[in-house]
Amino acid sequence: MSRFWSPLVHTLSPYVPGEQPKIADLVKLNTNESPYGPSPKAVEAIAAAADDALRLYPDPTSGALRETLAAYHGVSVEQVFVGNGSDEVLAHAFRALLGHAAPLLFPDITYSFYPTYCRLFDVAYETVPLSGDLSVRIEDYRRAAGAIIIANPNAPTGVALTRAQIAQLLAEHPDKPVVIDEAYVDFGGESAIPLVADHPNLLVVQTMSKSRALAGLRVGYAIGDAALIEGLTRVKDSFNSYPLGRPAQAGAIASVEDEAFFQDSRARVIAGRRRLVEGLEARGFSAPASSANFVFARHASRPGAELAAELRTRGVIVRRFDAPRIGDHLRITVGTDGQIDRLLGALDEILG
Ligand SMILES: *Cc1c(COP(=O)(O)O)cnc(C)c1O
Repeated sequence: MSRFWSPLVHTLSPYVPGEQPKIADLVKLNTNESPYGPSPKAVEAIAAAADDALRLYPDPTSGALRETLAAYHGVSVEQVFVGNGSDEVLAHAFRALLGHAAPLLFPDITYSFYPTYCRLFDVAYETVPLSGDLSVRIEDYRRAAGAIIIANPNAPTGVALTRAQIAQLLAEHPDKPVVIDEAYVDFGGESAIPLVADHPNLLVVQTMSKSRALAGLRVGYAIGDAALIEGLTRVKDSFNSYPLGRPAQAGAIASVEDEAFFQDSRARVIAGRRRLVEGLEARGFSAPASSANFVFARHASRPGAELAAELRTRGVIVRRFDAPRIGDHLRITVGTDGQIDRLLGALDEILG
């Protein structure tokens, strides 16, 4: 605390990222990073971009990257916005689209950055409880609202809505901005991007941090009606004209162009998830069906805090949220087969 802080700073409750400990031989299953690494072509493109041209500012519009993403997703370049990680894209969306007199709605259990942005940007909000099985129920959003944001698949549950359910949500709220945060969609969800053509109120946000293993590069993007994208661009150009450096733009393009690598690594994560779920169920855990690169599992008898602490002493880090209804759940990122074996072996020791 400091008397030099602005009044706003006193009211903030900053997002707490999963820890990045520097312990050797750690099995790090707490921040949903990819165990398989980025496309080698992306790494090459990043290295190639680290040359004398770095003295020049990058393209402020990230035009080539937006063209590449537009072609990949079958939309026009005016329908694509890019930012410094999808967290920044989301921040601009809160500023540009989600603050209204009526409250923004989102699930009570979801990405904890949403309430953080609401405080930072003074956005009124109301949370909508997940149903007992931890799924989002579209019917529960039939209430006074200025806008809606839903992570699909949801985090930290991994539970997904179908595209038909998102279409129903959009049909019920044609006059409100609806943001769908698809950070994990590539691991088995159905993207809402095909709905953008018919829904001028829909913004779909994706990231290269999870399925493209580029969390360290910081590239996220949004796809939506050109007028929504223009709103985001107005905020961006009032904040930071150059959110993506030259290496980030080059690496992101190369990643999108390496479809074979992308398909292979997401298939490996999906196969790993199956192994992880089977191993956990055999040890007394249950988890809702996950469409993400993590599993949200609870043991039948052992408290989550105790399990997380015991795993930690064995060099395995998972994420736990000290929050009502989910305090006994562990969010476990799908690792390599070797990491999954280490986790399951540690659980065998702990559970006896
Ligand atoms: C990881 C994550 C993001 C942010 O990812 P960036 O690294 O900022 O692109 C956004 N939403 C959800 C739900 C996430 O889990």
